[in-house]
Amino acid sequence: MKSQMTLRTACIVSTGDELLRGTIADTNAAFLAARLRQHGVSLRRIIVVGDDIQDIASALREATDLADIVVVGGGLGPTTDDVTAQAAGLAFGRPLVRNATAEQMVRSVMARFVRPVPECNLKQADLPEDSEILPNERGTAPGFAMRTQRGLAVFLPGVPSELESMWAVVEREYLPSRGVFHRADLSCFGMGESAIAEKLAGLTAQHPEIRVSYRAVFPEIYVGFEAADATLVTHVAQRAHRAIGEAVFDVRGLSLPKVVAEALKTRGLTCGVAESCTGGQVARLLTQEAGASSFFRGGVVAYSNEIKSRLLRVSTTDLESVGAVSEPVARSMARGAMLALGVDIAVATTGIAGPDGATADKPLGLVHFAVALRDRTIHHCQIFNGFARTRVQRAAAYRALRLLLDAVRESTC
Ligand code: ATP
Ligand code: MG
Repeated sequence: MKSQMTLRTACIVSTGDELLRGTIADTNAAFLAARLRQHGVSLRRIIVVGDDIQDIASALREATDLADIVVVGGGLGPTTDDVTAQAAGLAFGRPLVRNATAEQMVRSVMARFVRPVPECNLKQADLPEDSEILPNERGTAPGFAMRTQRGLAVFLPGVPSELESMWAVVEREYLPSRGVFHRADLSCFGMGESAIAEKLAGLTAQHPEIRVSYRAVFPEIYVGFEAADATLVTHVAQRAHRAIGEAVFDVRGLSLPKVVAEALKTRGLTCGVAESCTGGQVARLLTQEAGASSFFRGGVVAYSNEIKSRLLRVSTTDLESVGAVSEPVARSMARGAMLALGVDIAVATTGIAGPDGATADKPLGLVHFAVALRDRTIHHCQIFNGFARTRVQRAAAYRALRLLLDAVRESTC
């Protein structure tokens, strides 16, 4: 490590007209934000500024006033719109000088492509006095670092692959070791964000030193707990798990499809699906990760009654007497799929996704589910109230996965 500085707060400055025009999204800032967080550095601001010397210089001044470490991305190249080094010189009152180490780096990389090395490329070696050089393994523009009154400013190239590889150097040379912050994540399904927050209100009030975050990826909710004290994080996450209850399906922050896949794989079970109202979404979720072929055999999207009876052997009497959206039909679909597909476990969905199709006794959003195992068939029924069609389908597909997961966890086969 080059320094014993304590860098607790950060500010990111992203430069480039393209960002301001909306031509590209600021993915570099997203990358840096996540990495800074992993190091326990708290991000105060992300400033986006165009390719203008004065604007960049004033952004740099603002950023250095705000934070211990300023991370600047872009504008280190050889073209006239690359003005970050000049702006840094202006902001910190340091003249640009040709840096011998940087010049050597530019020359050796450029010499592979053109000889003699064009003068405009050497401009990339004109850096504020007393800059420390960061090698660029993937491009020509070297990055650099400058000591500031509060800490450090680092300047990285804009090309994401170059910025990312150079960031590894910054971490190694300047940042405290990882693990300053400890984290636990609970993955939840079947309970809304505010309902979860209510259940955790007492616990979070008791532990203000724990940073609690909520991330909703419909219909899943991830709750994160973060603090410097690892034992405390584990303890609070365990209490939160108990408070939220069975809506928690994983304590590592994994998604439901991943957890189902893992559960099937570890038990060596094969599965299949019979889908009506979810139209293939359960199969899609089960196959989204690589390696799905080891547990997923296939499925039947049995939308019409005819397919339900012909391929899944659902009784036509049931279909006529109680209708397709019913417990007996869901059960026979699941059993039929298990037998037809030759799998250990099969899950079925049949429901009214809307907006039409509701009747007096079968409301919009009503879905019947069944999970068939060799020795038993489990039924579940739920009304997905107040959701639009696509949301009913997505929530129902996740419910089917959750039922599958519970059955697999309890199974003895
Ligand atoms: P070069 O030597 O390639 O000119 P540079 O350091 O001058 O590198 P820029 O010119 O600012 O970097 O950006 C180069 C390219 O990198 C942009 O055209 C864009 O495609 C990408 N880029 C720049 N900034 C970002 C950002 N914040 N997020 C994502 N991509 C970016
Ligand atoms: Mg450029």
